[in-house]
Amino acid sequence: AYWPASGDLKVEKLSARYSLDGPRVLHDISFEVRSGERVGIVGRTGSGKSSLTLALLQCIITEGKVYYDGIPIDRINLDALRSSITLIPQVPELLSGTLRQNVDPFQQYDDATLNDALRSAGLFSLQSNTIGGRVTLDTPIASGGTNLSVGQRQILALARAIVRQSKLLILDEATSAIDYATDAVIQASLRQELDKGVTLLTVAHRLQTIMDADKVMVLDAGRIVEFGKPSEL
Ligand code: ATP
Ligand code: MG
Repeated sequence: AYWPASGDLKVEKLSARYSLDGPRVLHDISFEVRSGERVGIVGRTGSGKSSLTLALLQCIITEGKVYYDGIPIDRINLDALRSSITLIPQVPELLSGTLRQNVDPFQQYDDATLNDALRSAGLFSLQSNTIGGRVTLDTPIASGGTNLSVGQRQILALARAIVRQSKLLILDEATSAIDYATDAVIQASLRQELDKGVTLLTVAHRLQTIMDADKVMVLDAGRIVEFGKPSEL
């Protein structure tokens, strides 16, 4: 059986800092998300949204408790944690090589699986002058992914999440205005994933993303100031 079987997430009094002698950037964050729910995270710039996504994957120093599918995070091997929960950062870094190497770095999947994931993520519908015509598994990716727009890089990262069948997806939406077509592709593939019971935490910059959410978390200066249904806020 694969862990985690569900996308349940429980966070208790989570605090975080970037270095041992640095200031806390998150304070006593507590919330619970059930499998299949979609949570929008909003707040001013610097309020701690990206820090929360990093804290949930133990990429920065944390105190407090996090449970994935009922298992406390300190009992989960870091590699297992980071390979089963997908974080799509605000500006994904890609490896230089091919699209295939980026979606399947350890060569674990066959072409049919990879192509299905690219199709689900909407990668085939992308237009890009910088990658030359039709997108395939062999499309070259420049170091850092600089031949793709930030939105397109996020779509590629989403394809990786679909290949791994992550039960929990954390998306830090790009702040730089993503064009309408790219955003529509991201939103459509996310809806498909949600239909499969995937839990989605989205750092949101667009009103539409929040209105669609089951719950909205408002952060201010590293604390939760509101958490509830969008209609109640
Ligand atoms: P934005 O909407 O601009 O993306 P955000 O809500 O994601 O903002 P964070 O990036 O989480 O904000 O920043 C929260 C706090 O953490 C800020 O005070 C910021 O200065 C600090 N911080 C962010 N990244 C680092 C870092 N790499 N090292 C030290 N402090 C950091
Ligand atoms: Mg951020």
